[in-house]
Amino acid sequence: MKILIISTPMGPLGKGLGGGVELTLLAVLKGLKARGHQMALVAASGSELEAGLLDQLWLEPGVPQASWQHQPRQAAVQIPANSLLARFWDRALQEQDRFDLLLNLAYDWLPLWLTPHCRTPLFHLVSMGSVGEAMDQLIAATAARFPKRLAFHTAAQAADFDLPAAPQLMANGFDFSQYQFQATPQKLLGWAGRIAPEKGLEDAAKVAQQWGWPLAVWGLKEDHTYAEAVEASVPEGTLQWRGFLNTAQFQAELGHCAVLLNTPKWNEAFGNVVVEAMACGVPVLAYRRGGPAELIDPGISGALVEPDCIKALVEWLPQVLALDRQVCRAKAKERFSLEAFALRLENWLTQPQ
Ligand code: UDP
Repeated sequence: MKILIISTPMGPLGKGLGGGVELTLLAVLKGLKARGHQMALVAASGSELEAGLLDQLWLEPGVPQASWQHQPRQAAVQIPANSLLARFWDRALQEQDRFDLLLNLAYDWLPLWLTPHCRTPLFHLVSMGSVGEAMDQLIAATAARFPKRLAFHTAAQAADFDLPAAPQLMANGFDFSQYQFQATPQKLLGWAGRIAPEKGLEDAAKVAQQWGWPLAVWGLKEDHTYAEAVEASVPEGTLQWRGFLNTAQFQAELGHCAVLLNTPKWNEAFGNVVVEAMACGVPVLAYRRGGPAELIDPGISGALVEPDCIKALVEWLPQVLALDRQVCRAKAKERFSLEAFALRLENWLTQPQ
């Protein structure tokens, strides 16, 4: 098939502005390319992409979208002047007849609304759970009319929406050759993700303080005020800010952690960093909430505890520290390979409509 992917309108790829969607996009491109499909992409100008993944690339300028998850639930749909999202869809609609299908990765109103109006079938890989009423309504309406055009990452994410049939679940796929196994950890806890309130860094910081080991933190500081508040909530030296690194550097550092803490406050749709840690042999201790609860195999690749309970996290640390890191990686590899992800995507995109 000839597939046109429309990227996240949060900004150029490679800087972390798109959160987990950036890695998902690479997995979609790599996975489907390896299955012989022709891949094209519309993305923001300034994007940094691996060579050899694309048959065609359109880079568009424009003003990024504001993130839905940082607005009130009743917020109206926003499209700024010189909108990047509008440029993406100008391009996609102009080029659509050259493709067998369009695949949208943006969690936005405009592409969903366009579903009945495109000549080429338009599919959506939904990247978040419910964060706003306008999106909830449109996802439900699109699913009612075109149930096969939407797919989700996890059952917990899909359960946020009013869907007419069982959701199509894609999970996610990872190139395990990019993640090096680290057998011997340091006395170091880890946390990774966008530094923003919904990701719950403050709870992991408290665990590190109580346990007495530093917490290495990787990710883009989306909300500086929040980052400063978390820093001020624990003694100096508890947090080690490592910044936003590319995947090669990120995995090289991440692998040295004894445990990754994953403490989201929202219904995390998937949780790429959970699988990335496991891929390095780092077991994950997480709240039993959202996607991560479906990714961790308790007693094999980590543990799940009562959400928002710092005491439970601290109590479970010894069991998680004792897990076999090789087995942890092997389990993740068995469940989240790029090849299996690509097959799931292909089955979804090629089924009779
Ligand atoms: N990430 C990265 N470098 C870093 C820290 C994080 O590339 O230094 C990436 C990580 O690979 C993951 C993404 O940031 O793909 C975070 O995605 P996740 O699904 O965990 O959460 P989201 O941001 O989508 O809420």
